[in-house]
Amino acid sequence: MGSATSATSPRAPAKVDDLLDGLDPEQRAAAVAPRGPVCVLAGAGTGKTRTITHRIAHLVRSGHVAPGQVLAVTFTARAAGEMRARLRALGVEGAQARTFHAAALRQLRYFWPRVVGDQQWELLEGKLRMVGQAANRVGAGTEPEVLRDLAGEIEWAKASLVSPDDYPAVASRLQRDIPESPARVAEVYRMYERLKTGASLLDFDDLLLHTTAALEEHGAVANEFRDRYRCFVVDEYQDVTPLQQRLLDAWVGGRDDLTVVGDANQTIYSFGGASPKPLLEFTRRFPEAAVVRLERDYRSTPQVVELANRVIGAARGRPAGSRLRLVGQRPDGPPPRFAEHDDEPAEAAAAAARIAELLDSGVAASEIAILYRVNAQSEAYEQALAERGIPYLVRGGQRFFDRREVRQAVIALRQAAASSPEGELADLVRRVLAAVGLTDQPPQGGAAKERWDALLALVELAEELQRTVEGVTLRQYIAELEQRAAAQHPPTVEGVTLASLHAAKGLEWDAVFLVGLAEGTMPIQHADGDERAVEEERRLFYVGVTRAREHLSLSWALSRHPGGRRSRRRSRFLYGLVPEDHPTARVARQARPQPKSAAGKAKCRICGGALLATMEIKLGRCGSCPSDLDEDLLSRLKEWRVERARELKVPAYVVFTDATLVAIAEQRPMDHSALVAISGIGAGKLDRFGAEVLAVVRAAN
Ligand code: ATP
Ligand code: MG
Repeated sequence: MGSATSATSPRAPAKVDDLLDGLDPEQRAAAVAPRGPVCVLAGAGTGKTRTITHRIAHLVRSGHVAPGQVLAVTFTARAAGEMRARLRALGVEGAQARTFHAAALRQLRYFWPRVVGDQQWELLEGKLRMVGQAANRVGAGTEPEVLRDLAGEIEWAKASLVSPDDYPAVASRLQRDIPESPARVAEVYRMYERLKTGASLLDFDDLLLHTTAALEEHGAVANEFRDRYRCFVVDEYQDVTPLQQRLLDAWVGGRDDLTVVGDANQTIYSFGGASPKPLLEFTRRFPEAAVVRLERDYRSTPQVVELANRVIGAARGRPAGSRLRLVGQRPDGPPPRFAEHDDEPAEAAAAAARIAELLDSGVAASEIAILYRVNAQSEAYEQALAERGIPYLVRGGQRFFDRREVRQAVIALRQAAASSPEGELADLVRRVLAAVGLTDQPPQGGAAKERWDALLALVELAEELQRTVEGVTLRQYIAELEQRAAAQHPPTVEGVTLASLHAAKGLEWDAVFLVGLAEGTMPIQHADGDERAVEEERRLFYVGVTRAREHLSLSWALSRHPGGRRSRRRSRFLYGLVPEDHPTARVARQARPQPKSAAGKAKCRICGGALLATMEIKLGRCGSCPSDLDEDLLSRLKEWRVERARELKVPAYVVFTDATLVAIAEQRPMDHSALVAISGIGAGKLDRFGAEVLAVVRAAN
């Protein structure tokens, strides 16, 4: 199951010590730290989520806390569901693992009558329409993009605990990028709140706000809550918003039984008001906290880890305390693949073709994911996969539990459970679902196959439960379904996952396709020119790279439509990652007078011997032959590079690597053909920097 989890152990480990067998010494230190504050600061794939589930299991097993007193929160419903699955596999039943919103929703429903009385409310799922009404009333723009930006801004303000009254001052101070004046946005915000309250609706942020208020302002509510929950765990803590933090504080209520884990380099929701500060400053708040850092990456092959290190190594302005270098623990795997395509359909077709190969080689469809920057990109991939008959599911697509056949199935299962049937769970479920259309063999493609896949997923969930919970009953299974429906956590449908990079956080797959890596998409257009926004995009790219266990494919297309102008450029984040001998260097090679890149053909310009090592080829001489480096020229080139990199807002090596500068300073090219003959200078660099470099060389002569 694109499972960060695939609950590995079929039965819960028997003894507390066995429980800790699957942890390395640092993970174990975090898992067995006594009750109290614990902070795990570590990179992707180092086992943070694994560590906290083991910590919960350990605290429960050793009698420090009852399962029902544990509240674990994370960022997506899927991650919460996977946490529950991992806990179950460790023999812990009854611990709450939810998103902040799902936890708040539940608590609010429970406490609401006592706090507010019998006034009913409904959940407002999307705020766009109401923001539209509000914008209309106050005379602000109502174009779709403007409304989207306004809704995003209201969300940001609420997550940041900024009221309509305070908004103008805060927005001006922070120079928020908004479609209307701060005062006008505040009016829309105020009107939106008024309309919403008038209609007895609560939006998602209100769930958190009201729950926080209930706990902060009603002593009896707080006491009952604190009696019930005693141990708190937060995963992905780097993306906590001030509002979530306030709710968390209300939950914890001055106690200190709080475990947080996160990776500041995976902060990808700053645009929504999240900040890694509470993670990085945890020890300031709890000086006695046990702090654990993890560096071993258990998820990915060294090849993927190496790429991930390079991606995040190029980040600018990384917060102090976030510099970790991952060390891959798995055996070697294939090198990451890079591919450039003429257009998006070609890119999608190539991904589908490669996926077909992976499926043939035995990789399960559910172990493959295609990740993109924005949901609109999924269409080309859906089409390409459908053409090959490869099953897929789109995350954020039609909600699983809203599907007609799933609703029918749940009704049929409930009816069946009423008669307390005997037998193994999976058999029972299969029998009941046969009545609503689950055949032995899948139907051919299309909507019928999708329905069949959904029903099969229900059977597979039953099988998984049967493996992990001894003697599980149909009623327990239905309870699990209800919990999942409430949390919007569908069971895994056997198929390739299509998801946005944001939705992929915390998850992992054997094979990951990062697609659409072209400027304007990655980083997204509106981030361009804003260094902090570009850095957030880079972290998003890092999140994508680190989802892959073994096969990683990175691709981009030069034009959107077939036959379109091939005017797009590959993502700036790929600079320095695409290997020198990659075919996309073809442009560069064509421009080169004598192809030199083929290893073995290049000759040392001093002794005439064959050059093999990349560095030697780059320098155009053997490592052992004397350097005829012009030191003065080299320092001028470096000065030029510093300036250029500053202008372009890129790290210096993106302009030229040290080795290339050394090669230029040694070979002193006087014209374009001499310059392009230096390995590492392709057509792109020649176009952008050729004239300037030649001017520096000439000036030094
Ligand atoms: P992310 O930052 O992406 O959320 P994470 O730090 O939470 O990553 P996990 O998902 O907990 O990492 O672990 C990554 C993978 O490595 C999982 O498949 C997990 O089971 C495995 N793993 C973690 N620790 C160990 C270990 N000590 N031995 C073997 N496998 C491990
Ligand atoms: Mg995790």
